[in-house]
Amino acid sequence: MEVDYLIIGQGIAGTCMSYQLMRRGKKVMVIDQIEQKSSSEVAAGLFNPITGRKMKKSWKADTLFPNMISFYRELEEVTKSSFLHEVPIYRPFFSIEEQNEWMAKSADLDYQQFIHKVWNKSLGNGLVKDPFGGLELKMSGYLDIPSLLEAYREYLRALGAFRDEQFMENELKLENGKVKYKNLEAHKVVFCNGPSARFSKYFSWLPFRPVKGELLHIETDALLDKIYNRGVFVVPTKTGICKVGATYNWKELNHVATSNARTELEEKLNNLVIFSYEVIDQKVGVRPATKDRKPFLGSHPNFSELAVFNGLGTKGVSLSPYFSEQLADFFVMNKELDMEVNINRYISLYSP
Ligand SMILES: Cc1cc2nc3c(=O)[nH]c(=O)nc-3n(C[C@H](O)[C@H](O)[C@H](O)COP(=O)(O)OP(=O)(O)OC[C@H]3O[C@@H](n4cnc5c(N)ncnc54)[C@H](O)[C@@H]3O)c2cc1C
Repeated sequence: MEVDYLIIGQGIAGTCMSYQLMRRGKKVMVIDQIEQKSSSEVAAGLFNPITGRKMKKSWKADTLFPNMISFYRELEEVTKSSFLHEVPIYRPFFSIEEQNEWMAKSADLDYQQFIHKVWNKSLGNGLVKDPFGGLELKMSGYLDIPSLLEAYREYLRALGAFRDEQFMENELKLENGKVKYKNLEAHKVVFCNGPSARFSKYFSWLPFRPVKGELLHIETDALLDKIYNRGVFVVPTKTGICKVGATYNWKELNHVATSNARTELEEKLNNLVIFSYEVIDQKVGVRPATKDRKPFLGSHPNFSELAVFNGLGTKGVSLSPYFSEQLADFFVMNKELDMEVNINRYISLYSP
């Protein structure tokens, strides 16, 4: 069987990449060994335009966010399912000074498209601790990634474009500018295999910095119509379960749930909310993060038939649509990649 592109991995990266290529009329085959513990399966799927302790606009938010929403809406139409939930994020203020600072910032054109309202007093809903009010954001919400992955996998299966199997790199053969893998022949292979790319003989030279993350699933009778976020996020999902996360651990890159992470998340949650809850599950994943916190895109320095789309780190939901589009345009139309994300920025680390 001959295809244009063989995509390794169907997390959020492989999903967006393969769809962008099909959108451009290319024939793809996606190989994924379905894993309940991949980063994409575990993630809360939050997208938040204003992030971090210092509450800055997230990197390229003006470009990424409008693009992301229309992209996932299109995927919903194509797969006839629903997984994108636009929900306001509410972040309580710590102090009156912080409230004043955001009152001023809300007039700033640069922030206006993301601010729904600056609350100068508590919501008074008996759910969250917010004596100084808080910042309510728009163009925010969560992507139900497991539902997206499942719906898209069915879509691929119906096209005969999905294989549920383990990809074995040593069975890849590069011949005359083409790639052979078992009974498949492809013009290009795109590695979208998340944190396992750091063990690839072709891409392990890239400076990955994976980070383990844990989150809790809680059940509560409280009716949440916003995502609460300060220290931890609380994402109310359509199933009635809320996801609370997340931790960061750069040392232990395994999939073992720890009591330390649970204690940390519960302490932070108790500082944020007033409602009662029960922890019903704890999930663990390893994020494919990079040293400079920017994604990895581009072709292998020696083998142009091999390419990578990886390094989505903590923000796979918002980064994936825009950068998969950029990589697809690079493949199909020879458009330049942003130097900030092009793997050529690390060419000095590569030795053939
Ligand atoms: C606890 C936690 C919370 C998070 N919360 C958020 C959040 O709220 N918002 C957000 O945007 N991001 C969040 N993230 C980050 C997000 O999960 C990642 O950015 C994103 O999922 C990375 O996607 P990926 O497709 O690159 O990698 P992965 O999800 O790891 O997907 C790689 C895929 O490749 C497959 N694969 C690998 N090797 C092989 C092989 N040899 N053969 C076959 N298949 C293979 C795997 O099975 C997997 O399906 C969170 C991550 C964690 C761990």
